[in-house]
Amino acid sequence: MQEYLAADRLRTDWDVQQSLTLGEADVGGVNSAAETRGLLLDAAQRAACYLESCDARPVLPTPAALERLAELDIPLPDAAQPASKTLCQLDEIASPATVATAGGRFFGFVHGGALPVSVATNWLATAWDQNTALPSAAPAAAEIERVALRWLLELFGLPEHAAGAFVTGTTMAHFSALAAARHALLRQQGWDVDADGLFGAPAITVLVGDEAHPTLFKALGLLGLGRRRVLRVPVDAQGRMRADKWPTFGGPAIVCLQAGNVNTGAFDPFNELIDLAHSTGAWVHVDGAFGLWASASSRQALLTAGINRADSWACDAHKWLNVPYDSGLAFVRDANALRAAMAVSAEYFPEQGSLRTPSAFTPELSRRARGVDIWAVLRTLVSARPAAFLSKRSPRARLIAAACRQSAASTAVV
Ligand SMILES: *Cc1c(COP(=O)(O)O)cnc(C)c1O
Repeated sequence: MQEYLAADRLRTDWDVQQSLTLGEADVGGVNSAAETRGLLLDAAQRAACYLESCDARPVLPTPAALERLAELDIPLPDAAQPASKTLCQLDEIASPATVATAGGRFFGFVHGGALPVSVATNWLATAWDQNTALPSAAPAAAEIERVALRWLLELFGLPEHAAGAFVTGTTMAHFSALAAARHALLRQQGWDVDADGLFGAPAITVLVGDEAHPTLFKALGLLGLGRRRVLRVPVDAQGRMRADKWPTFGGPAIVCLQAGNVNTGAFDPFNELIDLAHSTGAWVHVDGAFGLWASASSRQALLTAGINRADSWACDAHKWLNVPYDSGLAFVRDANALRAAMAVSAEYFPEQGSLRTPSAFTPELSRRARGVDIWAVLRTLVSARPAAFLSKRSPRARLIAAACRQSAASTAVV
């Protein structure tokens, strides 16, 4: 058994590897290295054509394009087909049925399109196909994520020793950060929630603003803290939590603040609310799905003043950073709390050496190397401190806001 556990097991003998290589055999619809290359180049060509088409086509697919999706809905195939044909079918039938979020005319929600550099590096990382659970299986990915995390913490002005998790989105970032909160608060009460669960545990009070994002409630439900079992603090007309309506409560508590209300863009008054929360020993969590990025902009940083005094933060990289889906980030000041909540071990895991172990911080074990896209965008766009790369975009956002106001005013007159 011990021999099986040795890290050397990952290094099979070169000759053995050669004899196991499939060579010219059919590998999933392609028959040779040349065909694989042709397939990948074809995909790249088609993707480039697709992106170029986004600015000339309607943002929403036409009814005819949507109807054609039925052509994909055939009975479970009884015969194989070449990979190139599969790619072609998807491009011809499904590409026109997409919403052109990658183009310059999509302004829905708080989404953005993926930046070209992040699409390209995402493809490369897909070709690597690294299982970013353990550094022994994905040393480059583990190291790139370690660096990306350090850059992000610096960019946001968060504590340099905070832990980070590369997850699917803000929903899972909430889940991860609040799992750490749950662990830390109950550990202070002498209760090991990860071992013994929530039944019989001391109660945790959860405070949320009345306009908290629905994903926060989802995460609370998943954690057994309850979607409804929360104290809702009244908010002002912009959706900001009102400090003058602060409820009284005792015992372990989590206070969930918001950086960027999804309807108004408003930010909670962090300094004031964090003072109140910390005076009772509460854990402060911030939903900064898109708003945390304001702290990376010299012009917008005032909005997030005091945010770095919180205990955990959730954020999306597939929003402001414009990497491909799915990509979210959780940051937790008490690294040990996140590690304790996410710990996983198995006899068959080899020793991990000194590299960062990605799965020690995430709900997932196996996953793609999400941090690669993030590293790539930061490496490409961040050129100066304080970060100017986001500041460049806000004048455009203001321009759009002014145009909307004007159009609303003229509609009102009519
Ligand atoms: C988008 C968003 C979320 C949810 O993020 P996902 O990445 O979709 O899980 C949560 N909170 C706010 C404020 C958001 O804008």
